[in-house]
Amino acid sequence: MSNFDYDLLVIGAGSGGVRAARMAAAAGARVAIVEDRYMGGTCVNVGCVPKKLYVYASEFGKAFDDARGFGWDGIKPPFNWATLRDNKKEEITRLNDIYRDLLTGVDAQLIDGRGSLIDAHTVAVDGQRYSAEKILLATGGWPHIPEFPGSDLALSSNEIFDLPEFPRRLVIVGGGYIAVEFAGIFNGLGADVTQLYRGPLFLRGFDQDIRDHAAREIAASGVDLRFEVNVSAIAQTENGLELSLTDGSSLLADTVLYATGRKPHLEGLGLENVNVELTERGTIKVDSDFRTTESSIFALGDVIGGMELTPVALAEGMAFARKQFGTVDKAVDYDFIPTAVFCQPNIGTVGFTEEAAREEFGDITLFKSVFRPMKHTISGREEKTLMKLIVDTASDRVVGVHMMGPDAGEITQGIAIAMRAGATKAIFDTTIGIHPTAAEEFVTMREPWTGS
Ligand code: FAD
Ligand code: NDP
Repeated sequence: MSNFDYDLLVIGAGSGGVRAARMAAAAGARVAIVEDRYMGGTCVNVGCVPKKLYVYASEFGKAFDDARGFGWDGIKPPFNWATLRDNKKEEITRLNDIYRDLLTGVDAQLIDGRGSLIDAHTVAVDGQRYSAEKILLATGGWPHIPEFPGSDLALSSNEIFDLPEFPRRLVIVGGGYIAVEFAGIFNGLGADVTQLYRGPLFLRGFDQDIRDHAAREIAASGVDLRFEVNVSAIAQTENGLELSLTDGSSLLADTVLYATGRKPHLEGLGLENVNVELTERGTIKVDSDFRTTESSIFALGDVIGGMELTPVALAEGMAFARKQFGTVDKAVDYDFIPTAVFCQPNIGTVGFTEEAAREEFGDITLFKSVFRPMKHTISGREEKTLMKLIVDTASDRVVGVHMMGPDAGEITQGIAIAMRAGATKAIFDTTIGIHPTAAEEFVTMREPWTGS
């Protein structure tokens, strides 16, 4: 046993930190975990979980309208924001307790407060010092709002979940995951939503067909979607927040949500006291074992950049604990990580975009299908589903799958397993479908797409 207080001290009880702490403690290490805000981190408190609960809430809005065609003809009930917000709070508190129990159940010590590095083996929390043989930085990210006149009047995703009043007029700035998801949520809940994106088309990095399809569907669903425009100033007026836009126009809003990316959460961490280097992007630089340039200090999750997703942070936490405190030395495999954007309908995606596949493999074959989901033949909703397969022609391997349609996130998870197993298009073709589902389209697309 070392002379340090702990074998491992983790800063940050989010997805990655909790997983690493739990696994290290279960393997017999003496572990402490420092958290100053909330158990479970971003995902549980102001990320995936409350977001998905709000997505469910927002889907009822259109479901009541859809129901009419199926004979459920009644009055649409009013939406109560306070009920949703407070029920969400209760559920998050329950999850916070579960996370706490998971840690105490394996005898990890919880230290409440902000952790700051003093040296390569010492962390201070509220004036108390703790030493550890290894220190893990799992401090995640923090929303970034650019500075401009009135930017202090804008909110980030951290605050949007617990608004005291429902925003009747909401402006969302950004074109990534959070902006698109919250536009869908508040539009579905009945707000007038305007989404502003600075470039020609949002969801940069996603497949071009998905981006085009998403722009059409989201605009058709009622979001006032505007591209090539940004906010130059926000001012408080008696009619609400007045936004001056770069195209010379202005907008009035009750709430302005900035979803313009997240930065590594390094404030007050004491990095100046140790030899931990940062990358050009300001994330913590690590090697394939998550070791920083200070050999006793490790880092993982959002704070090291990469794909900012909970399952990625979990996988990293697990790989770290197994290698440092167990007997398994297995690097995280970052190939074919599936992801979903929980807009309405969902986007599910895994593997290469068409553009990236063309660059990687040269000759590719495309399969595409755009159709009206069966449910909407009777609901009367005009929404269309898009499904797309990208095949490396030489090997016949399916290297990209993209979908926008109901349950795309759920469907893509299963497809990702097949793709990681190296499934070819021939395997997709000989797989019998489940009828009637939308997912069966992925195994019945026979004719390569030749159109534009
Ligand atoms: P975090 O979960 O951010 O945890 C870091 C923890 O460290 C925090 O609890 C913080 O309080 C604590 N901390 C920081 N500094 C200190 C310090 N000095 N001392 C003590 N404690 C400290 N991902 C998905 O996969 N699916 C989704 O649907 C999804 N939705 C999201 C929606 C939103 C609105 C947001 C913001 C994110 C979403 N994400 C989603 C991303 C996901 O939440 C993150 O990728 C994930 O939480 C990263 O885990 P982490 O352990 O790296 O950091
Ligand atoms: P993203 O990086 O996804 O998107 C940021 C958006 O803001 C981009 O459209 C970007 O434009 C735009 N932007 C950046 N700076 C400015 C600026 N100064 N003015 C105007 N627009 C600007 O970040 P998010 O905040 O949406 O989400 C952070 C991360 O959290 C995501 O990348 C994702 O990894 C994770 N997440 C995952 C979810 C999921 O799995 N479902 C859900 C929510 C978050 P441009 O494209 O031009 O750079």
